[in-house]
Amino acid sequence: MSLLVVGSVAFDTVRTPFGEITEGLGGSATYFATAASFFTDVRLVAVVGEDFPKEHIAFLKQRRIDLAGLEHSMGKTFRWRGEYGYQLNEAKTLQTDLNVFQTFHPKLPFSYTNTPYVFLANIDPVLQLDVMKQVSSAKLIACDTMNFWIDGNKEGLVKTLAGVDILIINEGETRALSGEFNLVKAANKILSLGPKALIVKRGEYGALMFNGKKIFTVPAYPLESVFDPTGAGDSFAGGLMGYLAQNAPDGRIGDKVLRQAAIYGSVMASFCVEAFSLDRMRSLTQDDIRRRYAEFVDLSSYEYQT
Ligand code: AMP
Repeated sequence: MSLLVVGSVAFDTVRTPFGEITEGLGGSATYFATAASFFTDVRLVAVVGEDFPKEHIAFLKQRRIDLAGLEHSMGKTFRWRGEYGYQLNEAKTLQTDLNVFQTFHPKLPFSYTNTPYVFLANIDPVLQLDVMKQVSSAKLIACDTMNFWIDGNKEGLVKTLAGVDILIINEGETRALSGEFNLVKAANKILSLGPKALIVKRGEYGALMFNGKKIFTVPAYPLESVFDPTGAGDSFAGGLMGYLAQNAPDGRIGDKVLRQAAIYGSVMASFCVEAFSLDRMRSLTQDDIRRRYAEFVDLSSYEYQT
């Protein structure tokens, strides 16, 4: 089943304690689409400028990502510069040059309007809502956001959340959105805004998933070397939604399928952080994914004894 992502395609300049990269391929939609492409057909809606090289287009096409929704505008591609300390869980944004992203108004090609699975990456909640209206027959909609929108347009975000099935945000955003420090209280408040499930990303500590009835804890894979956490959240969302598009054909997100999907999310995030930009995804195989999934099962399984 097809999966649509709307978000950013960017050049990222990133420094971590383990190295740096200048203007590597990045962006929320890029990371999401690439991770999801290992599971299902992906359609991408974003904007790039005249400086976006053919080799990046070739990479996305090689991943069989449908680029009919990738707008090419006059001007420069969106650029983001950030750095991480040894505490790799949170990026410090040093510079954001919106460029062509500033005036981006996602307009879905007609062929995309019947897409059943949708991921609204971190963009203005007003635009997210507008995309939701364009895919009125969607079976499952997930979304991300950031503190900038929680602080700057909470009202707009709350309207968007009313129509969203799964919200995938980090710990800080969960607290900011709910006004609660305790994550369980925070989750209950956020679920009352509309989403059927909330996934709280916690970097190297994994993720917590809430559906109002049960809580599921998703481990992060304990890697010996983490090079660059940029895009881990979007790769997580790509793995999760890609798996759901493939395995929850009616869009119903029962506890069992959602747990499997969240583990695949964590699998894809674990590969993302092993190299800068999307470099690890370039050589990734289905066998690598299967092997790591098996390691995840082993990571947290134990015998139940009474
Ligand atoms: P994450 O998965 O949260 O690490 O997302 C990282 C990606 O988000 C990077 O590749 C950036 O290019 C992109 N990004 C950073 N800031 C923004 C923003 N304000 N709007 C959209 N995308 C952004």
